[in-house]
Amino acid sequence: MSKAKSSSDNARNVLMDKIVSLCKRRGFVFQSSEIYGGLNGCRDYGPLGAELKKNLKDYWWTRMVRDRDDVVGMDGAILQNRRVWEASGHVGTFSDPLVDCKETKARFRADQIFYASAVIGGESHGYVSVTESPTMAEEAEQKIRKIQKKGGIKGEIAALEMEPLMEATPEEHALIPSPNSTEPGTLTEPREFNLMFKTYVGPVENDSNVTYLRPETAQAIFVQFKNVCDSSRIKIPFGIAQIGKAFRNEINPRNFTFRSREFEQMEIEYFCRPEEGLPLLKEWLETRLKFYEEIGIPREKLHILDVPEKERAHYSGGTYDIEYEFPFGIQELEGVAYRTNYDLTKHQEHSGKTLEYIDQATNEKFIPHVVEPSAGVDRTVLAVICEAFDEETITNEKGKEEVRTVLRFSPRMAPIKCGIFPLLKNKPELVAKAREVQEVLRPHMNVFYDEGGAVGRRYRRQDEIGTPFCVTIDFDTIGENGPEAEDTVTVRERDAMTQERIKIADLLTYLLERVR
Ligand code: ATP
Repeated sequence: MSKAKSSSDNARNVLMDKIVSLCKRRGFVFQSSEIYGGLNGCRDYGPLGAELKKNLKDYWWTRMVRDRDDVVGMDGAILQNRRVWEASGHVGTFSDPLVDCKETKARFRADQIFYASAVIGGESHGYVSVTESPTMAEEAEQKIRKIQKKGGIKGEIAALEMEPLMEATPEEHALIPSPNSTEPGTLTEPREFNLMFKTYVGPVENDSNVTYLRPETAQAIFVQFKNVCDSSRIKIPFGIAQIGKAFRNEINPRNFTFRSREFEQMEIEYFCRPEEGLPLLKEWLETRLKFYEEIGIPREKLHILDVPEKERAHYSGGTYDIEYEFPFGIQELEGVAYRTNYDLTKHQEHSGKTLEYIDQATNEKFIPHVVEPSAGVDRTVLAVICEAFDEETITNEKGKEEVRTVLRFSPRMAPIKCGIFPLLKNKPELVAKAREVQEVLRPHMNVFYDEGGAVGRRYRRQDEIGTPFCVTIDFDTIGENGPEAEDTVTVRERDAMTQERIKIADLLTYLLERVR
């Protein structure tokens, strides 16, 4: 492997560490139950993370529901009748292949393990295994080196061959060590592991009271399709949108909030006539790509994966994954899938209730087809943070060089829109004026009042959490330098660090034009 590759992998890990540490230090994301040692796969959003997440969900709701005539919202329960999950196929098939390490009892998703062998001195030496990551080839090489050293095998590694564990023959599988071990054959055979969290409804823990925490929000939409149609008189093509928690007992939660056991989804089921399905799939892909640009994720950092037929669900008429270049690799943010009329058909079969749509104009009856854009809130929040994170060397107010950490959030997503600083905290007129400005802005946006420390330090604290504007109330504002500048403030912009003098009377309009 080339040095350049390994150093860029390393840089990506360092970047991710910096992001995770900033998220904790400034109150975006904490480990859940941290004082008790945490709970794997679960995170809590702190004060700024909660604001950021809310801004994302509100903006999604505005663009996907309120700005459109053809989409309505709903808010379904997390717990549904168990039969919902039987009909949807989740009880039978919502599983991942799991393997155990016989030595350490660690569990892995079999489809995320790669095994490698190396050619040294014209001979093949193997095997080692690693879990999928951008640095996996490097890790495999290091493991092979260790074996080489231990066994006194001399010579350069001429080639490294890596294959997915799922493609190993039974003979190979028997010789592959687990990623946690170097002993051959420490991996069990793969078995299917259902990802749903099981629970009981009511006080009696018996089989008939079993249900599951929903693994996706979509099914409540399908189940309520008829009620929504009848109560809102909306006509096909139309969509039902929902934001809410989903739970999956992921075998291997990882990459910070990227793969969690508790997460949130933003989903739309867009119902249509069969012939409209494919054109609408393309249309929704474009709509969703545009949305990401509107929240500060540039088009060139997004990748579209046209999921090949053999990897799609059997009922799918086409699926696009929208992927983002995270520091830990290119990974899925959202799936846009044409699900044909599979879901409604299944629910009609299992419930015995008709889920047909009647076209009032033609009296034609049919089970609608559906296009589903399904996005993850947590993954999008993470992408927004990764995209915003930047460090630059600047010359500070004292003429010294320093590293400025800045989250370049689009103002629309920023948790705090404006910082408000009185120049000095012990000058009552400055404080009173700053509080006045705060009251003018507060009803319209999230603002933050800060009177502690030098203004330069206060700017830096706001830069680090992505606040796009800071307003300073100084002696000019309170008329100490003559009537000319009275009732004007300095507005400083985060990215260019430029400053402008604005009349307090114009401040609200100035900021609203820039943060909405
Ligand atoms: P993956 O292949 O990454 O497991 P998926 O294809 O199973 O994801 P879907 O079932 O299509 O995901 O769910 C739609 C969206 O929900 C995903 O694009 C993702 O944004 C989000 N999502 C799914 N699983 C998780 C998870 N474990 N943690 C965080 N977000 C998730």
